[in-house]
Amino acid sequence: MAPSINQLPTQGASGGKNETPSLKDHYSALPNLVAAQHKASHDFRSDVVTTPTANMMQAILEATFADDVIDEDGDPSVRALEQRLVELTGKEAALWVLSGTMGNQICLRTHLAQPPHSVLLDHRAHIYGWESGALPVMSQASVTPVQPSNGIHLTLEDVKQHMIPEENFHYPPTRLVALENTLNGTIMPLEHAKEISDYVRSYPVPPGQKPVAIHLDGARIFDGVAGEGVDLKEYCACFDSISVCLAKGLGAPMGSIILGSKPFIARAKWFKKMFGGGTRQPGMMAAAALSALANSIPQLPRVHSLARATADRLSALGYKFSSPVQTNMVILDLEAAGIPVAAFVDYLTEVGVQVFPSPRLVFHYQTSEEAVEKLVDALGRLIQDKRAGKELVGRKMVGGYANGDTK
Ligand SMILES: *Cc1c(COP(=O)(O)O)cnc(C)c1O
Repeated sequence: MAPSINQLPTQGASGGKNETPSLKDHYSALPNLVAAQHKASHDFRSDVVTTPTANMMQAILEATFADDVIDEDGDPSVRALEQRLVELTGKEAALWVLSGTMGNQICLRTHLAQPPHSVLLDHRAHIYGWESGALPVMSQASVTPVQPSNGIHLTLEDVKQHMIPEENFHYPPTRLVALENTLNGTIMPLEHAKEISDYVRSYPVPPGQKPVAIHLDGARIFDGVAGEGVDLKEYCACFDSISVCLAKGLGAPMGSIILGSKPFIARAKWFKKMFGGGTRQPGMMAAAALSALANSIPQLPRVHSLARATADRLSALGYKFSSPVQTNMVILDLEAAGIPVAAFVDYLTEVGVQVFPSPRLVFHYQTSEEAVEKLVDALGRLIQDKRAGKELVGRKMVGGYANGDTK
């Protein structure tokens, strides 16, 4: 049984009335959390799978409990989290929202005033392909999906070739360019982001028209800047708005932050409420996120090294990759190895390692070395069996990110 919160010792020596009870020494007695953490340690589906640490649970106990809609200044824990992101990124203002999808779509809606208008983005962008078709519904926007000519990330040349000027009324003018860092674990380098940003911000528009906006889907921006070794503030300066996931590699239970100028964020608050994002006592989630930031940001380089080291071992076994391994993701090219996705899933499930029916391995700060050993062993056996001519089972895979993949 979990310890009762009434019986927990307080943190301070005095045991005074106003001190919050301490959870730290009782974490291992919380059976659901311990089980969830073990599961997370073997779960390579995504970096959203991490579970709250003792520090995060303690932060939840110490959170504030104001109403973020009806209380005049909102919730203090939420404000503290927003302020922390303002300090880290150098943007003027921040707004806590429920998810990355909500964050992206609020930003786009806030920029995009009146159709016809279009958004230029990478054809693989989350905003375009993975947000349930929100963009044309919420913002009435058309999309210009662009294939990066270098196969990895958009460049200035790609953007230049696909911008739609406001001159021919057959085409919806580009009013926003959206970049993504990281995308499939690959980095959108600072130098390229800067070039694109300079170009977009000085792109000619008719008199009275707002400049073309540039947005960053920075769901994994902390991975991006840690992986590239660049300054977060310098990176964020390239964008008019940014959405950052707190629940991916940063490890919070839920939530995202959007960032921009003060007037932008003030306007975004209307859309947050409109999209169903007004919340009552969100302080607990914000306090956990603030604690998660402090704990997980310093661990990102270790997580990236573990992903790279694992990729090196898989490469030595004969695997190839469909994207370069630059941060916390390893994307295998199973087709090149002639291995059906179903066999990949079966071999890993057998050793207690969880993956989606897609050849993507995502590392996070709770990924265990033990799980990595099991994964490398199982994939070693898989490729040997393939070479030995053993028939590998292929069947229709559904759910997760399978897209009905039958390979
Ligand atoms: C996860 C993710 C989001 C947001 O997803 P939610 O599940 O809505 O939080 C946005 N962009 C990218 C690139 C992501 O990976």
